Amino acid sequence: MPVLLPTSLSEATQMLSDTPGATLLAGGTDLMVEVNFNHRKPNDVIALRHVPELSQWSLNKVAGTVFIGSAVPYKHMESGELAQLVPALAQAARTVGSPQIRAAGSIGGNLGTCSPAGDSLPVLSALDAIVHLASVNTTRDVPVSDFMVGPKRNSREQNEIILGVTLPIRNGRQGYAKVGVRNAMVISVASACFALQDGSPRIALGSVGPTVLRCPHAEQFLSQNLAADGSVSDDVAKEFGRLVSQESKPIDDHRSTAVYRRHAVGVLAQRLVQRGVQS
Ligand SMILES: Cc1cc2nc3c(=O)[nH]c(=O)nc-3n(C[C@H](O)[C@H](O)[C@H](O)COP(=O)(O)OP(=O)(O)OC[C@H]3O[C@@H](n4cnc5c(N)ncnc54)[C@H](O)[C@@H]3O)c2cc1C
Repeated sequence: MPVLLPTSLSEATQMLSDTPGATLLAGGTDLMVEVNFNHRKPNDVIALRHVPELSQWSLNKVAGTVFIGSAVPYKHMESGELAQLVPALAQAARTVGSPQIRAAGSIGGNLGTCSPAGDSLPVLSALDAIVHLASVNTTRDVPVSDFMVGPKRNSREQNEIILGVTLPIRNGRQGYAKVGVRNAMVISVASACFALQDGSPRIALGSVGPTVLRCPHAEQFLSQNLAADGSVSDDVAKEFGRLVSQESKPIDDHRSTAVYRRHAVGVLAQRLVQRGVQS
């Protein structure tokens, strides 16, 4: 298959416009698996790794936000300054696949595939990330909750490239945890991101619904029951976990059962809120 290699964003969007139906390739850790199994047969591929605008991250100190380019690999999120700014993302990144996968795989690819099990996605959801998209003539910003529309479905138009995401930097505790069928190199059977941001608790769940879910009832309960220092009693944490379980919408599949997932995600939520995870 022909592979096009743009070296700037404007070249990439122009190539996408000139080659309708072309498939975008970032790290290839999802796409090439599908190609190898004959699940996808792209006619034309546009490889994004040489587009500098997509491979950088930047801090906006005034706004208190960080922009992460769609092709920034997980290995750059695991440690260092970015990990200090968004610790839950660092924790999620560290759980993705193996070092080889983390050297290639990206947030843009996680969003592009939009699996409910994508590890970066609960973090983006809990932090109300904005997804930036660009086509040859237009740009638009979409709240991540509107971007993820269903299992492996997103609201990207065919002629759009995901530029990256903007997230608030940490101003309270946050953490990410997942459960799988083994301890490493595993796709989650349940995952959760908890963040206390601007004083308000947020919880987002992965692998327990058609897409990543927020839990408004559990969040409201917790906001009314947090101590002044942000801590919670054992009873409040337990009730929070119960409410999170109730708001999950898991199914049985080849990885796990709905009953186990519902239980597991409640335990994760309870532990995260008590742990007050730091990076
Ligand atoms: C062995 C193995 C283990 C894995 N373990 C995990 C894991 O633990 N957790 C996890 O979440 N995932 C895991 N994955 C899946 C994969 O690594 C992630 O989903 C990763 O984020 C994909 O990123 P990528 O850059 O490789 O995407 P690619 O494979 O390049 O692309 C994936 C999809 O996104 C689209 N896309 C990519 N970039 C853009 C863009 N800028 N704009 C628009 N569309 C775009 C592509 O067209 C394609 O449809 C694993 C994969 C493998 C092979």
